[in-house]
Amino acid sequence: MPVRGAGFRRQAAFSCLFGGGRPGNFRREPWPAHHAPSPAPATFPILTMAEATSNNLMENVINLCKRRGFIFQSSEIYGGYNGFFDYGPLGSELKKNIKDAWWQDMVRRRDDIVGVDSTIIHHPNTLRASGHVDNFTDPMVDCKESKQRFRADQLFFAPVIVAGETIGYVSVLEDEAMQAKAEQAAQDMKRKLAKPGDLAPIVLKDYTEATPEQHALVPSPATGKPGSLTPPRAFNMMFETKVGALATDDSISWLRPETAQGIFINFKNVVDTGRVKVPFGIAQIGKAFRNEINPRNFIFRSREFEQMEIEYFISPDADWAKEHADWIQSCLDWFVSIGIPRAKLSLYAHPQEKLAFYSKGTTDIMFEYPFGIQELQGIAARGDYDLTQHSKACGKPLEYFDEAAKKKYIPHVIEPSVGVDRTVLAVLCTAYYEDEVEGERRTVLRLHPRIAPYKAAVFPMVKNNPVVLERAEKLYRKLKRRWNVFFDTAGALGRRYRRQDEIGTPFGITIDFETVGIGKDGAAIEPDNKVTVRDRDTCQQVRMTEDELIKYLEAQIEGY
Ligand code: ATP
Repeated sequence: MPVRGAGFRRQAAFSCLFGGGRPGNFRREPWPAHHAPSPAPATFPILTMAEATSNNLMENVINLCKRRGFIFQSSEIYGGYNGFFDYGPLGSELKKNIKDAWWQDMVRRRDDIVGVDSTIIHHPNTLRASGHVDNFTDPMVDCKESKQRFRADQLFFAPVIVAGETIGYVSVLEDEAMQAKAEQAAQDMKRKLAKPGDLAPIVLKDYTEATPEQHALVPSPATGKPGSLTPPRAFNMMFETKVGALATDDSISWLRPETAQGIFINFKNVVDTGRVKVPFGIAQIGKAFRNEINPRNFIFRSREFEQMEIEYFISPDADWAKEHADWIQSCLDWFVSIGIPRAKLSLYAHPQEKLAFYSKGTTDIMFEYPFGIQELQGIAARGDYDLTQHSKACGKPLEYFDEAAKKKYIPHVIEPSVGVDRTVLAVLCTAYYEDEVEGERRTVLRLHPRIAPYKAAVFPMVKNNPVVLERAEKLYRKLKRRWNVFFDTAGALGRRYRRQDEIGTPFGITIDFETVGIGKDGAAIEPDNKVTVRDRDTCQQVRMTEDELIKYLEAQIEGY
């Protein structure tokens, strides 16, 4: 049964060979040359990605997120809820800025893309027609003894072969050190059983590849003993719900697992009411829900997340490979435009034999997260599969009349689909640095000004001079009409800078005695009407007038 990209990839996981290309998995081989960590910018960074990884970059980012109100575990007062996260005051700003930047660049600045905002719960036939009800599955395995549940494609096993004889099996859960862990376990087994001879290399495979005989022999990662693991079986990841007062089978529907279907079911509405002409795209940003068996890596894999998706409709006669390649390039450029270094991004083209029959090609944009190189965005060429499925299921033609070509057809589609939360995480991991300023260690988030939660912080040099204070407040109010700006009077100026550095505020603006015309002895002097602007990354300070400041901020934040 055909399924859409995500479903297909999940289903494909059943048969993929070790290291054979499931995009969401850790790379087992050492960093390939093109994935090598990017060199630190010349002027600043102290930590390279490799150092930062070993220095627990992920832990530092998670701690900062909690400490400064970016991201919290959901329902924390009740002990948290696995796979769900809440964005706090700063995180919700960062996330909104990312979504706004995407919408601005992908929808408003283009002539060929329009937006929709569909419901989260669709008519149940929508997800039946798209294939999700039957096939949106992950392979799952249970340990009958410990009652723990694992994703079969994240559970790896290998035979332990000594002098040509299989003396048992080892199993490990997927992580960066799993090869070493498996080798150690094999050595231990050989020693315990006192088997003389050479240990053959440990070749890990994922559990979806285990034969029925092996299911009984592979030890459970929970207990270390064989015999308690079930064969893998398909687990549908959609959250079911009941709609309406009567809880019958007819009232079953699902929280959408992607925003894409809400676009396809509105294709006809958009074509009939707008002035769109193929090629054109429909974009949507919104929540998606997947009952992930093993949510992990903070907001990377959660059960409720947000997506930014485009369905870009092209003629069946169009050069799909070129359109696909153009989209890959646009998406890479967009990530770079919000501050993600190109060197941390790489491409993963799904092997032809793993694609669904209708799919022409899928390429993932991968990001070098601290826990491995993982999918940030998928860009799929899906042919006319989705519109055809919906057309058949609803009994209405979902065709487009091409006036130039004088013919009707079901358009083909290119689908760039990116997770907002994975983008937030990529941005935070890129931006996090620890360095030294004036002999003091500081944490700094080098966020691109366009997405930083606060664009600037306004500081009166002193808080006990009403003239300085009033002028600073006035500037603050003026800037706040346009941007999210912070006002801080508390503590020494250095401390105030550090607090803003840590949350990524790119500019500190100080109003001092010269600004307002107060001399050293308190006597009136000619005010210079200038403020000091301090750059978060270089710590350089420049004095400028308010008009110059506005132009400067405009250029830095909005890029013009
Ligand atoms: P994966 O293989 O990592 O599970 P996928 O291939 O199933 O991802 P898609 O169905 O292509 O993902 O979804 C498009 C995008 O949505 C992904 O590239 C990712 O950025 C985001 N996404 C998917 N699942 C999750 C999740 N559980 N948590 C956060 N973001 C997600």
